[in-house]
Amino acid sequence: MEFSILSESFDKMESTRKRLELTQFLVELFEKTPHDVISKIVYLIQGKLRPDFEGIELGVSEKLVLRAAKKSLGTNEKDIIETLNKVGDLGTTISKVLERKTQTGLFDFAFDSGAHDEASFDAKSNTVERIYEILWDISQLEGAGKNVQDKKINFISSLWNKCKPTEVKFVTKLLLGTLRLGVAENTVMDALAIAFTGDKENRKKLQYAYNVSSDLGKVAETVATKGIEGIEKFEITLFNPIRPMLADRVKSEAEAIEKMGNEFAAEYKLDGERVQLHIEGDKVVLFSRSLENIESYYPDIMEKIPKNIQADNIILEAEAVAINENTGDFLPFQELMHRRRKYKIEKAITKYPITVNFFDVLYCNGRNCMELSYKERREKLEKHVKEDEFAKYIPMKIVKNECEIEDFMENSINAGSEGLMLKMLDKPYQAGSRGSHWLKLKREYRNELGDSLDLVVIGGYFGKGRRTGNYGTLLLATYDEDEDNFPSICKVGTGFTDESLDQLYQILNPKVSIKKNPRIISEMEADVWFEPELVIEVVASEITLSPIHKAALNMVRKNTGLALRFPKFTGKIRVDKAVEDASTNEEVITLYKGQKKIAHDKNLM
Ligand code: AMP
Repeated sequence: MEFSILSESFDKMESTRKRLELTQFLVELFEKTPHDVISKIVYLIQGKLRPDFEGIELGVSEKLVLRAAKKSLGTNEKDIIETLNKVGDLGTTISKVLERKTQTGLFDFAFDSGAHDEASFDAKSNTVERIYEILWDISQLEGAGKNVQDKKINFISSLWNKCKPTEVKFVTKLLLGTLRLGVAENTVMDALAIAFTGDKENRKKLQYAYNVSSDLGKVAETVATKGIEGIEKFEITLFNPIRPMLADRVKSEAEAIEKMGNEFAAEYKLDGERVQLHIEGDKVVLFSRSLENIESYYPDIMEKIPKNIQADNIILEAEAVAINENTGDFLPFQELMHRRRKYKIEKAITKYPITVNFFDVLYCNGRNCMELSYKERREKLEKHVKEDEFAKYIPMKIVKNECEIEDFMENSINAGSEGLMLKMLDKPYQAGSRGSHWLKLKREYRNELGDSLDLVVIGGYFGKGRRTGNYGTLLLATYDEDEDNFPSICKVGTGFTDESLDQLYQILNPKVSIKKNPRIISEMEADVWFEPELVIEVVASEITLSPIHKAALNMVRKNTGLALRFPKFTGKIRVDKAVEDASTNEEVITLYKGQKKIAHDKNLM
């Protein structure tokens, strides 16, 4: 398939944010796509080569692209930086530079670094398959040595070779991971349903297939080649992560009873990391809540847990929690951070021990268990997983009234957990959705704002005094689901310990970008801008209208956004959350309206 078809489609998609138009462009593209390339097209649209859980990374930095441009286009860096400052992103910059060169006849388009074996491709045409294959080859290069960097530069030159300027723009964005077409997964599924089944309503069936595979490319290939019948037969595949079920929040026991009826399960809400375990014999694969492979942080789980399993194969969910070695008490989430390191992981494992606390089973002995009720799943869990010092069932009690919930909440808080998860007894596991079959009740919900917020770190300010050499204050943003970007909501400078400042600096420093990422929406100045990749948790005393910040802009009042008053870092660096899982504008508006309602009710009393 000619790459120009895809590049023209990208061009159209970039020009709109309207979901219906985007869907239409995608349908047109899918109709032109041969079935054997449809999965590649779907990954590329999302700026990826494979589904996220496979962890395929290109490892191409802006610096490397600049070096490749210098080498293969013969431009100097100053020229490129000047254009970059005008147009805002490196992909467009390189295509503009190339355009100028070809217009002035200074660039010989026939340039070929010879880095890529082109034998299997037509000498003249630039196909999606060719571009994909070179990108794939880049992703397979390991290490950061000069040799590897040079090879990558040669591959980049091969990529640009044969590309027209507009194609260069998109190829470069793919290389850098900066292609943002604003196409949400739902929009891709709408378009797949229309293009391959002629009925948008089939989206729901595609959604199920996506929820149990986390692989939109695989879903696309199935519907393209086997139609809706293929999707209806779609099965859970061991070692492909299932998108997790999430919980709504409630503020009180009374609200929980109102929503759940008069008998339900209460479980401790442990403050650790959610882990999805796929096990068959000795083979174990671990996924995080955002479906990243996290095996390297938990070699102890990999080694010990297979002995606890009494089934041929199984998919389980658990919360891994740091514990005090002497007392066995649960420790807060941030203790797990010590395990997030590349070196000396064995030492960290002995120093920061954990327990694995199982709370669900989604698949067992080749059969899907998601359709079973909570009660049946819990029984299955207790049948197929053996408890010991390391592997536990999450503490659970069937509760019937406010008193029993409160009592269990006390126990849970005393054991060092955050509160309770409340689960309906007769309901199935709903992969990939947040709903009212599971509710979370946290102790801190009862005061101040009513909830903490998970916000994206977008900018930093250098510290003074004791904080010199660190970022003393951070600029934070919500996630805008409609626009797929990050509008600022506050600056936070309190709640940090010396240790957390050091830790944040280590994490954030590699994320400093040459230019503010176009997905960051803020008029604030910052000493440095970060790539929006990290989520931290904050609490605040109030949400106020703001003329400066851009969160929920125009959604509550015209030309006005929302901001946090007296925000404070809680100490939780949410490495387990993707930026798309951060608090959204809608959530902030709900909290804003909630506090107004409380003020109103108080005035009436
Ligand atoms: P939150 O991150 O506040 O939305 O809370 C949801 C998270 O709580 C899940 O992703 C799990 O990591 C964690 N969790 C702790 N205990 C449980 C439990 N008993 N059931 C389900 N999730 C739990």
